[in-house]
Amino acid sequence: RLVRLRQRLAGSNALGRGLLGLLSRDKLDEDTWEAIEDLLIGADIGVGPTQELVERLRERLRVEGGAADARAVLREELIALVDPTMDRSLQVSGADGAPGVVLVVGVNGTGKTTTVGKIARILVADERSVLLAAADTFRAAAAEQLSTWGERVGVEVVRGPEGGDPASVAFDAVRTGIEDGVDTVVVDTAGRLQNKQGLMDELGKVKRVLEKQLPVTEVLLVLDATTGQNGLIQAKVFAEVVDVTGIVLTKLDGSAKGGIVVAVQRQLGVPVKLVGLGEGPDDLAPFDAAAFVDALLS
Ligand code: GDP
Repeated sequence: RLVRLRQRLAGSNALGRGLLGLLSRDKLDEDTWEAIEDLLIGADIGVGPTQELVERLRERLRVEGGAADARAVLREELIALVDPTMDRSLQVSGADGAPGVVLVVGVNGTGKTTTVGKIARILVADERSVLLAAADTFRAAAAEQLSTWGERVGVEVVRGPEGGDPASVAFDAVRTGIEDGVDTVVVDTAGRLQNKQGLMDELGKVKRVLEKQLPVTEVLLVLDATTGQNGLIQAKVFAEVVDVTGIVLTKLDGSAKGGIVVAVQRQLGVPVKLVGLGEGPDDLAPFDAAAFVDALLS
């Protein structure tokens, strides 16, 4: 997995190489520290975490002096920034054998439906039975796309009539999931931001209606890593309506902005649990702080 992460983060490891290059200079003068800050901010880590990291690096390299291994210090401090202590496990099981309910939210185009398909793939590989719910009833293409994923990974998809009530599709899916004794129901939702209030009301309702039957065990917010600060603003809007329990950062393969991992965890106080590394069914990986930093520094 680490090898794949390395290959896919080809853009991001420019950050690691740049940092290592600057830190290995003979003299770490103010210009060098400024260049380091610019690199970090350019990678979307965010201003606060950048300043924190630079302060830690300066302090440690000063105290440890010539004996310091700049690469090892950078690795340790980056891992600490990404926070290896956060619980990144996916809650996909319900209590007492009931299905786990995973609600997946995010703006259209971020990779939500693709992610639902990939999650189903991971669960199926884990020998769990899965049911998908196409609760984006607004776009016929969305339900169609989810059905294609269902066929691809071999799981059933519950759909409703076009223009129907998304909450009722989600409700039906969970009822079917309970009746059929499936392990996990994964609910894909709408994400058209043109009508923000309408969308947020709809998502809130989907969650409330789901919880009439079973607790929602995981609410995953899908964010496109290439959208930078814009994505963070969107993330906050969603987090205000549904209690997000984990973040899926997609398109990390096409982004030189891996630092968004740090920024979004800080903003929402919620861990990145999965990362999207491509368009294929197997291109979703559990997020691991140390593996991620090693890929950056490779
Ligand atoms: P939705 O509108 O949020 O449901 O987004 P889709 O699932 O339809 O994805 C939008 C586009 O992003 C599609 O072309 C996907 O193949 C692509 N995509 C999704 N996840 C990833 C990823 O991790 N990496 C790359 N490179 N593309 C992705």
